[in-house]
Amino acid sequence: MSELLVVGSVAFDTLHNALGTHEKVIGGSATYASIAASFYAPVKLVGVVGTDFPDAMVQKLRERGVDTSGLEVAEGQTFHWEGKYTDDLTSRESLRTDLNVFADFDPKIPEAFRDAPYVMLGNIAPELQISVLDQIRQPKLVVADTMNFWIDGALDALKRLLKRVNVLVINEEEARQLSGKHHMIQVANALLEMGPSTVVIKQGEYGAWLFAGEDVFSAPAFLLEAQDPTGAGDTFAGGFLGYVAAKDSVDPKTLRSAVIHGSALASFCVEGIGPARLLEIDRAAIDQRVSAFRSLVDFAHA
Ligand code: AMP
Repeated sequence: MSELLVVGSVAFDTLHNALGTHEKVIGGSATYASIAASFYAPVKLVGVVGTDFPDAMVQKLRERGVDTSGLEVAEGQTFHWEGKYTDDLTSRESLRTDLNVFADFDPKIPEAFRDAPYVMLGNIAPELQISVLDQIRQPKLVVADTMNFWIDGALDALKRLLKRVNVLVINEEEARQLSGKHHMIQVANALLEMGPSTVVIKQGEYGAWLFAGEDVFSAPAFLLEAQDPTGAGDTFAGGFLGYVAAKDSVDPKTLRSAVIHGSALASFCVEGIGPARLLEIDRAAIDQRVSAFRSLVDFAHA
């Protein structure tokens, strides 16, 4: 087993969906990714919160084996994101992004974290993701997530980042936007040309594709009634890299299993509002769901 470093946003979210409006929901890319990864391996978290962020939540993360000594508490308010989902939960609109303490965030990776072999660059400004990489000595695998906000607003920095990333995890719509292509194989090839040797394209309720060199893997999605998809992408990425760190291997078989574990965790994430459901489950529940994923695609050579 090896450890992983998770960098990203820690947030308060306001979520509007068919069930109503949910305020002050704990969110952020690093929060979801850390919770997911903590089922597999020790996590070192780097991020920033304001003085309004509840200590109880930080404590909860610590109890899960997340080292929060790299979580800075800055004067001001925590990053806030507000999103509105369509009733069928298939799409969402960002209504507000208040960077707050994130606006002046300059990630300082504690000395004790700089040898982390596995690095998850959660969805934050690509410049910040680059600055994190500059401080890490010799990572074995760097995974990055991003979103339309940065493809629209920080494309040059994102392209510079991608040259230094091993695995890009991205959703289908954003993959099309970033690549300028439509057909999945063209999308994947265009993204691979930007730098990463592996690209994972998430298709929400339809599963995920893994393009790793010559290896192409299609993971199914678990059929369920979702309540709130917020954080599913970060949860997927955290589960994916947590699994890789636990195995301490980046061979194609491990990456395939990691996609299934990431998908299993994401399927739990969407079952509750915010990270609530993720905080309830245990490793046995995850393993059961991984088996359910296996039976979804199992067939005999009849
Ligand atoms: P996901 O649903 O996996 O795309 O991630 C949702 C999380 O991303 C929410 O909890 C938000 O707080 C966070 N988020 C939204 N916009 C941004 C942004 N521009 N930078 C960093 N984190 C963000």
